[in-house]
Order: sequence, then C-alpha cells, then structure tokens
Amino acid sequence: MTIAITHLARRFADFRALDDVSLSIAPGEFIALLGPSGSGKTTLLRILAGLDFPDSGELTQDGRDLLRVGARDRGVGLVFQHYALFRHMTVFENVAFGLRVRPRARRPSKAEIADRVDKLLKRVQLEGMAGRYPSQLSGGQRQRVALARALATEPDLLLLDEPFGALDAQVRVTLRRWLRHLHEEMNLTTVFVTHDQEEALELADRVVVMSQGRIEQVGTPDEIYQQPATPFVFEFIGKSNKLPVRIQNGRLHAGDQRFDADGLDGIADGSGVAYVRPEHLALTPTPLESGWRATLRHIYLSGSVAHVELDVPALGQTLEVELGGEESQRRSLQSGMSITVQPRHLTVFPLAGNSGEPDITRRRVVHPRYGQAALARWR
Ligand code: ATP
Repeated sequence: MTIAITHLARRFADFRALDDVSLSIAPGEFIALLGPSGSGKTTLLRILAGLDFPDSGELTQDGRDLLRVGARDRGVGLVFQHYALFRHMTVFENVAFGLRVRPRARRPSKAEIADRVDKLLKRVQLEGMAGRYPSQLSGGQRQRVALARALATEPDLLLLDEPFGALDAQVRVTLRRWLRHLHEEMNLTTVFVTHDQEEALELADRVVVMSQGRIEQVGTPDEIYQQPATPFVFEFIGKSNKLPVRIQNGRLHAGDQRFDADGLDGIADGSGVAYVRPEHLALTPTPLESGWRATLRHIYLSGSVAHVELDVPALGQTLEVELGGEESQRRSLQSGMSITVQPRHLTVFPLAGNSGEPDITRRRVVHPRYGQAALARWR
C-alpha cells in the first residue's frame, strides 16, 4: 500500500496552505509531518483523510485515485488532539462504534465485535476499563481509547494530528514510545502531525519538515538533524549558530579568520551564510592563529550537557557551544576566561546574486583544514 502525493496545492482565498507538495509513503512507514503553526500539516492530513480536497495535484494509493474515494471508504483511522470521544458512550461502545455503524453486509457479528474490542483494549492497555465513560478516564487513557477506536476498523493508514498535544510532558513521552511499539507490532502505516521536533525525531522513520505550505526536507531523523538541507531546517531543528561569511578563491572568510577549507569547489567568490551546530565548535584556552578569540560569557549545565555562550568580537556576535558536562568540569570552564574557538565543519549557503537570499542549490558542507599546531585541543 504505497501512497503517492503528487504536486498537491490547496488555497484558502489568496493564501497557499499547500504549495506543490509531493511525497511518497511506503507500507509500514511511520512518517512525522513537522513544522511550525500554519505550515500546512493539518491541511495535508485532512486531504489524506478525505475531509478536504486539493485545488490541484494527485493522491493515489497503489495507483488508485484516492481523490475519488469518499472519506468513509478510504480505510483511514483518525485521531485528533482533542479526544472527540462520544461522552455518552462507554469505552467499549466508543471503540465498537466504527464497526457497529457499518452496513449490514460488512458488519461483523456481535461476538466478533466484542472479541475485537477486547483485543484492542488489551493492546492499548485498557483492559478492565470497558465499562467506564470518557469522563472517568485520564487524558492519556482517553487518547488510547481514541486510538483503539481508530484501529477497530483495521485501517490501511493511521492519521494522527497532535494526538498527545494536550497531555503533560511526562505522559507524552511515555505514550509516544508506546505508540511506536504499537505501530511496529500491528504493522501499521502511520502519519503523525506534530510541531514538537523531539517527538518527530524520536518517533518517525522519516520526518517531513514543512514551512509555509511547502516541504523543506524529507529525511530520516538523523539526516534531518545532521544534514539540514535549508536555512529553515537549520533554524527550526536543534540549535545552530548562523554567521555571515565570504568565499574567496576557494577559502572561507568569517570575521578576522580565513580558513583553508575542503568543500568549496565550484563556488564562485561572493557572500554567504554559514550554519554550525554548537557541538561542532572546538575550544582551547591557547591562542592559536586559526580560530576566533572569544570570551566565555556564560556556562550552564543541563543534565549531561554544558552549554557555553561565547562573545566573539571579530564576528560581532555570540556563539553557542555544547560539550559534555564532565568534560566542561575537567576543563574548569568559567565565565570571563579567554578562549579560542574553531569550527570543525560548517554548512555554507552562498547568497544568490539576484535575490541576495541563501541559495539552497549550492549548499556546501565545509571542513576547515587546520595544521597539527593550529588544531584546538584542550591540553
Ligand atoms: P497548526 O500546527 O497550528 O495546526 P498546521 O501546520 O497544521 O498548523 P494548517 O492547519 O494546515 O496548519 O493551516 C495552514 C494554513 O491554512 C494556516 O495559515 C490556516 O490559517 C490556513 N487554513 C487552514 N484551513 C483553513 C480554512 N478552512 N479557511 C481558511 N484558511 C485556512
């Protein structure tokens, strides 16, 4: 069951909620749609569910045109952020609902329905609660009922829209791990909407990063974090430092530094913007000819990670560095100390000549070359 989304567009008046979106979803995949509020995630999910329709583009399932198939016949299970359980029905009745309302010819027998609901309640760890009403359940339990209800009709595709958004942080973490197990155990194909990057990176096989109705990048969680394709993804996922740079004769200039570097082949001279993750900056107290001089402004520990903020006069900005907490203690890092900082690698987007915007088609990962004597090492 492969779902192909091809050049989908959806406008609301003049506003482009989806703009040329293409994506293929393979059987058994867990896909997270991740993006800020208003990026088009829910619109895409609603189109998959048959609750909304695109202005143009195609949606097929194994070659079959899904846009001609009504919502009830698409074989999708839906769970929303707000429980939307039937309040006047017990847990059992809620889960059985989708089966009981089927036309007689496709409706399982009473005994079969009871058996299926029992099994599902076990799966979502709610056995013994079949007789309760939604008001007698916690938020996390209600969402598990909503999930069991969505699964009762054995959907080909499970669609979840911020299903844990209304729950507290601890319950969210427990439920998302549980959901991932359930997805694997039941061989589901799942599309999960979230604006929480941690949730997306932990849960999904592939993450689809969306912004302003467009897909910025599709990749495994590792690819999305380690190799962001656009400035938006760098700024939206994880932390990064952004620096203005110049490329000249295959060298990278930033502040008062000129780095001999690998990775700039074929890039014409000009300005650019570089991104560097906090963990890709190396520190040493020794003044070195390669690297920016900086003053340690602030350091704090968060769990096992030390976050260091540096003032870098040559760049006219601060840089954020992360290193292991134990390492930072061994090095006795303190506010006010003088430090050399070197990027291990950076991602550079040359600016496009006409628009002055970062050109994502000329993205380069740049590795500065440091001689042995000029390599930042803590001695
Ligand atoms: P959130 O995380 O806030 O739910 P989202 O990424 O799911 O955001 P969508 O709900 O898909 O975003 O909305 C995308 C854009 O389309 C938003 O700017 C929204 O205001 C607009 N939009 C969505 N539905 C409609 C509608 N029925 N009429 C007009 N505009 C709409």
